[in-house]
Amino acid sequence: MQNNSRVLKKVVEIYDWLDCQISNNSDLAGKCRACGRCCDFERPAPASEQGFDHRLFVTTPELMYLAANLGAEGIKPMQTNLCPYNIDSKCSVYKYRFAGCRIFYCRGDKDFQSELSESALKKFKSICEQLQIQYRYIDLEAALNNLVVNA
Ligand code: SF4
Ligand code: SF4
Repeated sequence: MQNNSRVLKKVVEIYDWLDCQISNNSDLAGKCRACGRCCDFERPAPASEQGFDHRLFVTTPELMYLAANLGAEGIKPMQTNLCPYNIDSKCSVYKYRFAGCRIFYCRGDKDFQSELSESALKKFKSICEQLQIQYRYIDLEAALNNLVVNA
């Protein structure tokens, strides 16, 4: 995958912007106990536990950023419903985690998350238009498995 320093710089700006929005709206963003459960995208939901019933979609610039920072050897295939970067219930790529990981808090305000997500996607799309990169918005499993094949 193309390693474009301008793309990487712009991704950092978007992640910083997102983190700032979340920090400035902590009442809407919600609180996270960092339990790592939401990194399992089809977590079964027995009566005593909360299921999440969500998927994580990621954009081309975010994948370029992850690949550039982890290197080819750091890209892991996704072979179960659990994100392969969730190690012992913790995110092992926290600094480089995707926009969806930053925005989703299981107890956060869904409208706030949805608006933030829309805004972030517009920004990622705009990077692709400006720098003439093909924009893709792809499920994490397909994205990682595709990166591994092409690494
Ligand atoms: S958002 Fe919720 S499920 Fe996900 S790590 Fe935080 S507390 Fe756990
Ligand atoms: S990148 Fe980190 S926070 Fe996001 S799903 Fe994977 S382990 Fe969870």
